[in-house]
Parts: sequence; structure tokens; C-alpha cells
Amino acid sequence: MIPLFDLRFEPEDLEAVAETLRSGWLTQGPRVAALEAAFAETLGRAHAVAVSSCTAALHLAYRAVGVGPGDEVIVPSYTFVATANAVLYCGATPVFADILGIEDPSLDPEDVARKITPRTKAVAAVHFGGYAAPVDALASLCEEHGLALIEDAAHAPSASLHGRSLGAWGTAGCFSFFSNKVLPVGEGGLLATDDDSVAASARAARSHCMSSGTWERHTGRTDTYDVAGLGLNYRLDEPRAALLLSRLPRLPEEIARRQVLTRAYRRRLAGLDALVLPFRDDQVAESSCYILPVMLREPGRQAEVRRRLMDAHGVQTSIMYPAIHEFSAYRERFPGVSLPHTERAARAEICLPLFAHLTEGEQERVILALEEALS
Ligand SMILES: *Cc1c(COP(=O)(O)O)cnc(C)c1O
Repeated sequence: MIPLFDLRFEPEDLEAVAETLRSGWLTQGPRVAALEAAFAETLGRAHAVAVSSCTAALHLAYRAVGVGPGDEVIVPSYTFVATANAVLYCGATPVFADILGIEDPSLDPEDVARKITPRTKAVAAVHFGGYAAPVDALASLCEEHGLALIEDAAHAPSASLHGRSLGAWGTAGCFSFFSNKVLPVGEGGLLATDDDSVAASARAARSHCMSSGTWERHTGRTDTYDVAGLGLNYRLDEPRAALLLSRLPRLPEEIARRQVLTRAYRRRLAGLDALVLPFRDDQVAESSCYILPVMLREPGRQAEVRRRLMDAHGVQTSIMYPAIHEFSAYRERFPGVSLPHTERAARAEICLPLFAHLTEGEQERVILALEEALS
């Protein structure tokens, strides 16, 4: 079988984790601080706050820009459910905007503009697959209306637009280190921002709004603490911070390899009339190439083509994404949402296997399998 995604660790990764376990300090401490410094530097942002997941980072970001009961946040529906769920955690209402189309499944700034109301507090943009959403246009729109722009950059560490890192365009950028993302360590996330008050809010809230952490008390800097608000436990632990620090230097070469594989896929699949390849060839160089999405021109064939790929060829695929507004929990709560481009993409999309150590031979098998399944 050719898996959709595969994990590989190097001996130094295992050693970094073992060394952390031997150190006797397991939760948020010096390795988390070193990870934050490395990430802030790479992104070119003033602050990076490591947390337990991207979902946590999104929740802290919305909260830090003041999203609360009665407010609205404009979000795509063509994304992972966490982008919208985190709005609900704040007691606010997610308002869904459509994507541009199957050629570019990024949030459509014109539809966002149509959905702004006096209650809108923020806009969340997803960099789908590691390809930049139009954050330049969205940032001007948000500035014009006094809204915060939150980037869901779960797919996009080491990606950019016009040379500026994704996750460094909005008020805050949120990253994921979940098992199948481009920098995977199991669970983990990070919030990046240039805004001192957003950083301070996220930093406090990730650990119960306590005025000092256990590390500060352990190292004798203080021996008591105050609780200044209602916080959460969204801390990242030290073994995962160590694993991230060990993997981080290899990320650029892994992304470069993903780009080579993506260009090869695009060259070979461009001739298939049954497919639309989202995004443009010239976007690959600035993308993290997290996934290889293809869109079927005939959406009714999605299930049949995926079944054929798995049963006849052992090629694993996935759908990114089913539309959030079509999930039962959302349909019940927000009936009547209609987003034609999102609905079309959700029925047309298939993700093909892509990971840094996918071989050319395996890639060839995937391409031949897809040609056969479509014929
Ligand atoms: C994976 C993902 C998330 C959630 O990340 P976790 O770290 O698993 O919480 C949020 N948004 C998008 C677009 C994702 O793909």
C-alpha cells in the first residue's frame, strides 16, 4: 500500500526526546522557550507562544483579540472544523464565507466583505494545503473595517507570500504540529504575533492566567503566584518541544523535496481532462506543499475513484475537506447556509499521497493508478 502520509524520525530526534526525559523536567520549560525563540526568528515575528495544539492557538487568538458572546467571526467552511469550533468556544458566532473556486480554494475576500456586519470582530483565513490565501487583500479589508485577521496556518510552516512568511500577515498566525502535518510531533501548536497584548494574553491564558509558572518557581525566581483571570491548560510539554527543535532545521529540505514531488505530480496530471489542479505552478515555490489536492470535474465520481484507487491499487487518499456547514452539528445550529464553491470543492476533492520521502517509483504508481481509475 502507498499511504497518504508517512512519518520518519532520525536518530537525533529520538536522542533529543530521550535526553529530555533524562533531564527530569517534562512540561513547559527551557525547551519550549527555545522553540518559541526559534519560531519567532524563522517567521520574523516579535512573539511566538507554543501551545498544546493549533485548535488551542486559534482559541487563544480569537480570545486575545476580544472575540466574545454576541460577536461574529468570518471563517471559511472549506477547512478543518477547528477553525470554526474555536469561535464557538468564545461564545461567538462563526459566519461562513465561500472560497474562490476549485481552481483556488482559498477564502474569497469579496464574499468576506459581503458578510461583514456591525458585530464582526475578526476574519480567519486558512492557507489551504500550505498555499497562501489572499492575505494581502484580506489584511487591507480587515484594516479598513477595524477587524482582526487571524491566519490558520496549520498547513503552512515554512511557506510565504511575496517573501513574507505565512502566519506573519495577520494579527496572529496559528500553527499545528499534529501527527500528519509538515512538522509533526504528535500534538502541538503555536501562536505567532507582533502584537504585545495578544502575545501577553495568549501566554497568560495557556497556563491558567497564573502570574508565574512552575519553571520560574522551580528555578527560584518566585515562590508564589496570583491568578489574574480565567485561563486554560494549553501548555506544550518538553519532550515535544525537544522533538520540534530537532526536526525544525530539516524542515526546509523536506519542504524542498515536497515541492519537487508536487511539480512532478502537476506536470504529469496537467494532461488529464477529468481533473482540475488547484493553484498555479508558480505558487509551488512559496508553498509548504502539505497536500496534493486534485479536483474532479465530475464531482459525482469522488467515492468511486477513491475506492478504485484503494481496492485496485493500494493507494490511500483522503478528502480535504468535507464542508463544515454540512456537518450535522453545524447544520442543526446554523441551518440554511449555502456556499456553492465550497460545496462543489467538498464533493470534487481528492488528496493524493505526499510526504518528503515518497519515492519517484511510488509516485509513478500513484499517477498510473489515478489515470486508470479515471478512465
Ligand atoms: C489540523 C488543523 C487544525 C487543528 O490542528 P490541531 O493541532 O490538530 O489542533 C486547524 N486548522 C486546520 C486547517 C488544520 O488542518
